[in-house]
Amino acid sequence: MSLIVQKFGGTSVANTERILAAARRAILETRAGNKVVMVVSAMGKQTDHLISLAKELTERPNAREMDMLLSTGEQVTIALMAIALEKLGHEAVSFTGAQIGIKTDKTYNKARIRSISTDRMVKALDAGKIVIAAGFQGVDDDFNITTLGRGGSDTTAVALAAALKAERCDIYTDVDGVYTTDPRVVPDARKLNRISYDEMLELASMGAGVMHSRSIEFAKKFGVLVHVRSSFTENPGTVIGPEPESRLAAACGAALATNETRLTVFGVPDQPGVAMRLFSKLAEAKIPIDMIAQNSSRDGRTDVSFTVQSDDAAKAREVMEATVAEIGAERLGFDDAVAKVSLVGLGMTKQSGVAQRMFHALYERGVNIQMIATSDIKISALISRDDGVKALRAVHEAFKLNEEPATGEEADSNGGASANATSDSFLEGVSPRLLSHITSAEMEEVVVEAVDLDEDQARVTLYNLPDRPGLAADVFDKIAEGRVIVDMIVQSVGREQLANITFTIPRAELEAVKSVSDGICDAYGCCAEFDGRVAKLTVRGSGLRSHTGLASRMFMTLSESNVNVSVISLSERCAGVLVDEAHGKTSQKRLVEEFSANRI
Ligand code: ASP
Ligand code: MG
Repeated sequence: MSLIVQKFGGTSVANTERILAAARRAILETRAGNKVVMVVSAMGKQTDHLISLAKELTERPNAREMDMLLSTGEQVTIALMAIALEKLGHEAVSFTGAQIGIKTDKTYNKARIRSISTDRMVKALDAGKIVIAAGFQGVDDDFNITTLGRGGSDTTAVALAAALKAERCDIYTDVDGVYTTDPRVVPDARKLNRISYDEMLELASMGAGVMHSRSIEFAKKFGVLVHVRSSFTENPGTVIGPEPESRLAAACGAALATNETRLTVFGVPDQPGVAMRLFSKLAEAKIPIDMIAQNSSRDGRTDVSFTVQSDDAAKAREVMEATVAEIGAERLGFDDAVAKVSLVGLGMTKQSGVAQRMFHALYERGVNIQMIATSDIKISALISRDDGVKALRAVHEAFKLNEEPATGEEADSNGGASANATSDSFLEGVSPRLLSHITSAEMEEVVVEAVDLDEDQARVTLYNLPDRPGLAADVFDKIAEGRVIVDMIVQSVGREQLANITFTIPRAELEAVKSVSDGICDAYGCCAEFDGRVAKLTVRGSGLRSHTGLASRMFMTLSESNVNVSVISLSERCAGVLVDEAHGKTSQKRLVEEFSANRI
């Protein structure tokens, strides 16, 4: 007998008729011989409604009381669902977060799950009942009600599936799966049959609204198979699992995030530890940073730009204003009319020219790129918010995401990850399920799987390029002519509307890229700097960006060893930095010590 977790989102339980339909699905699953745990959201737009009630009273309602308020939405649904099931002749029992023993930390409004005690659920299931659990909520050690953040019922569902070792977690929703991008914005977006955890993690955190990104962290960590499907049809949806849909495609999806705000700290002294202080201030305030562009410095000063979610912008500004003087930086810049378009796909690690194709697509529509940040399977460009929809459509079209990709195992490999990269993976060979032993004390704790050292990279920085549409497209067009795999691209716009672009390439290509860069410098009147002595350190895992302390711990560890970080990239799955080659091995060792399993 298997156990299936079924999660029903707000629209799938918006009225009693739909609640009955959901109850029937659960009963069908029991008839197939399975035990069923249902996780439900608040009905329809009830959470929004409750928030607006509080906002009628005050702009900044008390965080504890907000959780008390919002948790009532789910409590209504669980009771109605149990009543519906009994009416249909099936025994059922509803539980609140506290009753199922979902223990969280004390961060109201975005609490993280620490542990789940399954005893009570298992007893009810063994007695033949369907268990109905309230999504999105838990309790802290003092029995204060907490909530997991908007969309958090997905996370409850996958976490319960993990704790109960469920066969599958079905996410019933109002769309019939995960799409290559939001079909409301791009009408020819295509439904994916499957998508890998890693890709989904990046897409979800880059603004694709389908799934709460923290639920994918759980899924990956505990090896939970997730099936996203429509509650209104019988069609198969999208399976989120270890394998990608196609290894041949450069990309599997694109996303647009319009709730971004950019902050720039100008004139940061380029010394070990300074970036660390900047980011640890944000981490202390529990503000996740999104894109970071710290360009290599000139004259001992560097500009650090980063984006945060607009909800966190006011707080981030406050924190940064205090920090600017403290670290001896010059001033703070602020721009909230920005949006971020991202392209995600495992295939891009194996193909050259992916970034250039994306930049080209944006250029052809006249979209100016303000900032670029990449991880191994993601490229994000920050653009003006007015250009958002146009940019998303352009990227979707350029990568033909509407077309079914060819399947097959071998990509047109043009080098791939550099041969010299060494991985210090202390969890290698450990199946995702086994990770539960390591992390069971804190279920939602960040997982670091490996610290990779790549000593085969060289850095190229182009300074003082004119900031206008087509710049990145042109630069990477020229680089791509040599079929060089470009890694770790960071672009930021510095003073007087001049842009700097930094990227890394395989060291063997440095001479070739030097002559291309000289051509670019002649054309643009900019100057280039090359460093063939860099080492790239990448911390891999999941939840690295949203667990706000991780990046600052990484910088802290390096700065304690007096290692200066020249370039930073950060995503949910990897945090990468460039350091001097001489510090590569010792830095890797220090990071492994810092993040080794028993210390997380
Ligand atoms: N009801 C909560 C929300 O609307 C949680 C959820 O539906 O996932 O955000
Ligand atoms: Mg949702």
